[in-house]
Amino acid sequence: MVQVFQAPVSADDVKAKAASLGIDLVGIADGKVMDAHPPDPANPLRPCDISDYDADRVIVLGKRHNIGSTRLTRWDERHKYYNDELNITMLEEASLELVLWLEDRGYPGLIIPPTHVDPWTYQGEPDAPLGTILSLTHAAVEAGLGTLGLNQQLLTPEFGPRVVLSAVLSSVPVEPDTKRDETLCLGPACGRCLLACPGDVIGHWDRDWQACNRHRSPHGFQALTEHVERMIDEPDNEKKKEMLRSPEQFSLWQSILRGAGVVTGCRRCQDVCPIGEDYARLADAVDDIAEANDEKRSRLAAMIEAEGAGALPASYDAAGRWIGALQVQPNED
Ligand code: SF4
Ligand code: SF4
Repeated sequence: MVQVFQAPVSADDVKAKAASLGIDLVGIADGKVMDAHPPDPANPLRPCDISDYDADRVIVLGKRHNIGSTRLTRWDERHKYYNDELNITMLEEASLELVLWLEDRGYPGLIIPPTHVDPWTYQGEPDAPLGTILSLTHAAVEAGLGTLGLNQQLLTPEFGPRVVLSAVLSSVPVEPDTKRDETLCLGPACGRCLLACPGDVIGHWDRDWQACNRHRSPHGFQALTEHVERMIDEPDNEKKKEMLRSPEQFSLWQSILRGAGVVTGCRRCQDVCPIGEDYARLADAVDDIAEANDEKRSRLAAMIEAEGAGALPASYDAAGRWIGALQVQPNED
């Protein structure tokens, strides 16, 4: 019956429409393939868990970060958080426009924004990392946009990891894209993300997401609850008042206002990654890594040695589908 309302739409039509809305990267994943391959089988966030009817395709949209803001090299730069938040706003608006365009042609759609966390998954622990209702980075890999890197960030050939993502679910019957087989990441022989990470939270094809959160969301819910708890516990009323008027409270207020510093924050690992056609336009600002040290370098050397001996970590085994086949092992030559 609903077919009466449906106009023919191709994958090229969807991509052209997204491009006309200012989207830089578009890929289309097969929802059924994603249903069959949840990134975390213990907590399978699948398209079919979101919609019974409108999840046959996952249209993944990517907007590049501004080059100028990437060239601000401090990780804790509010101006940078704000620029990134504006990118997210634009991406979310374009996602809505795309849904309305699909619905005008007879195909209902749903947005998976990069900022929405299912409140039912919150377990009363402000420091526990919570993700989007569908992993957008894994969806992007399934949609052929790139592969995951050493710290499981999405790498794309065009912009490396310097993209923000959203997705649109719809059962529009268009041809899906296919996943890349080979990884784009240069692995521990590069390791620039690990060298630059201010929280030192990057492992061997892995990341400590909880520790990363303190940097990725520096004025987020965790920081807010800790600040309020400190104020409640402070017995001296004058000090309590100072805390109320402190720069920390001001940053929290500004972050609540726009989300800058909550849904945006550290992206040092993205900035320094040499993958992406855009890197040549950034390199003079990000080539040097002030956070690098010998201890980090020796950890990378141990990873290279382990891979050379054929020992890949369990994190690679679990995420290999999205990381892709590794490039030439660093010590094979
Ligand atoms: S976002 Fe920041 S803290 Fe998290 S892995 Fe990247 S560089 Fe490290
Ligand atoms: S910085 Fe190097 S190791 Fe890290 S994700 Fe990019 S290519 Fe991979």
